[in-house]
Amino acid sequence: MKNVILLAPPAAGKGTQAHLLEEYYHLAHISTGDLLREASRTNEELRECLKSGHLVSDEIVLSLLKERLLNLKEEEGYILDGFPRTVAQAEDLKEISQKIHKEIGYVFLLEVPKEVLEQRITGRRICSTCGAIYNLNNEMERPTQKDICNRCHQALTTRQDDNLESFEVRYQTYLKQTQPLVSYYEKQNILYRIDSTKSKEEVFQKLKEILGD
Ligand SMILES: [Zn+2]
Repeated sequence: MKNVILLAPPAAGKGTQAHLLEEYYHLAHISTGDLLREASRTNEELRECLKSGHLVSDEIVLSLLKERLLNLKEEEGYILDGFPRTVAQAEDLKEISQKIHKEIGYVFLLEVPKEVLEQRITGRRICSTCGAIYNLNNEMERPTQKDICNRCHQALTTRQDDNLESFEVRYQTYLKQTQPLVSYYEKQNILYRIDSTKSKEEVFQKLKEILGD
C-alpha cells in the first residue's frame, strides 16, 4: 500500500503530480481544502469561518481527516495534499495512521528554485473559455499566436493571484511551514527530494522509480 505526502511550493506542479499518482496507483487524493469545503455545506459555523478567512482549528481539520482515512477501503492507499502543515499535525497524523495500519511511507518534496517558480507564475496565461494553460516563459508551452488560445482561438488572460506580490506571500508561508516538516520526515528516512524543474512526465517517472509497482 502506498501512502504519500506531497510537499511543494506554489507553481511547482503539485496538483499535476497528485493527479498522475492518483490515476496510476489508484490512490485516494485527500485534500484538506476539499474536506473543509465539503463539510462546510452542512455546517454553518464552519462555513462562516471559511468565508471570513479565519483559520480552522486543528481539531476540526484532524477529525475530518480521520473520518476520511477511516472510510478508505482496506488496501487503498492515499495521497495527502495540504496536510500536515505543522510538526504537531504530523505527530497527530502518525498516531492516527498507525492505528489504522496506513502509515505514511513516502514524503515527496518537489523542489524548484524560486526564480523558476517566479517565471512560471508571471508567464502563465489561461484561456477562460476552454481552460487551456500556457506559459510564455517556456517555449514548449507558448501559444502559437501571441495571447491567443491554440484550441479555441479566444484571447488569453492571467489568473488573479498569479502576480509576484501574491506569490511572495504564499512562498514565504510555504517555507516557514515546510522547513520543520522536512527535517521531521528526513529523520524518519521517508523524505525524497525531487527535482521538479523537469517536465511533468520526467518528474512523474522519478516518483514511479521510488514508489515501484
Ligand atoms: Zn481556449
